Amino acid sequence: MTSSSQSAIALTATQAAWLAELGIDRKLLATLADTSALFASARIAPGAGVAPVNVPSSGQETPASKRPDAAVGSPPMHRAPVQSVAQKLAATQPVDATPVQPVRRVDLPADLALLAQTVAGCQACGLHASRHQTVFGDGQTSAPHWMIIGEAPGDHDDHLGLPFQGKAGELLSTMLAAAGILPQASVFYTNLLKCRPKGGRTPRADEIQACLPYLQQQIALVRPSGLLVLGWQAAQALVGQRASLDQLRGQVHRYTDRGVDIPMVVTHHPASLLLRGQYKAAAWQDLHLARAALAA
Ligand code: SF4
Repeated sequence: MTSSSQSAIALTATQAAWLAELGIDRKLLATLADTSALFASARIAPGAGVAPVNVPSSGQETPASKRPDAAVGSPPMHRAPVQSVAQKLAATQPVDATPVQPVRRVDLPADLALLAQTVAGCQACGLHASRHQTVFGDGQTSAPHWMIIGEAPGDHDDHLGLPFQGKAGELLSTMLAAAGILPQASVFYTNLLKCRPKGGRTPRADEIQACLPYLQQQIALVRPSGLLVLGWQAAQALVGQRASLDQLRGQVHRYTDRGVDIPMVVTHHPASLLLRGQYKAAAWQDLHLARAALAA
């Protein structure tokens, strides 16, 4: 795995431009052999892991502009008051008559290829009606260094059947390379939801509840060394805590489930960074925290 002593990064022109956009010059990069200053405020979240996510099937959807990861001028990091996802999301979901039948994890195959087949035929929530195809995941399927988890397939993903296509995927690759995670580390990419919400809308709580067991089963079968979680909703579902993205960032959580006990770091989704470039520096810091968490 990459160590901090390997931080003398050979930059491509794209990576150099991206870092320059963050205000990070070569002089600062040269100091990255000691990245401790970047993580001075980072904390290990005690006891953080997979909590049951019992989200309601109806409520009022939160507009994208009101999502915590859309906030400008984020407050200082602190732990959110403990409150269940169900309690918090109950007031933010729309009433929708589409019947949703949450996937029962106990019924899922203990084989990744069979699980992919199950997902391909899934009609547990209304998203199956508008998808071109399911997007199960891509990358190293056996004990990769990282499983990188986004929120839902984008338009390109939906057409190609692969996660992190298009500009968001390009930015993610550039970020991972600039932070020294790629190409050294092996990665499996997937999303919280396996079907694209129509028009790219924000996933609903009942859809997340329906689909989450697939992701949990993927983690149990792929057995990555660490999780890098991109975006507010994926972070909430996996940390099992309702909080803003800024409250979940900047610390190393633990994902614990069925014999899996691995570090988990949360950061901004690259699609969000394409719209809100002011968060790129924070994302860059998160990636270094992730790299340090796996090297520890
Ligand atoms: Fe099934 Fe998940 Fe697709 Fe809904 S989003 S239909 S639960 S695979």
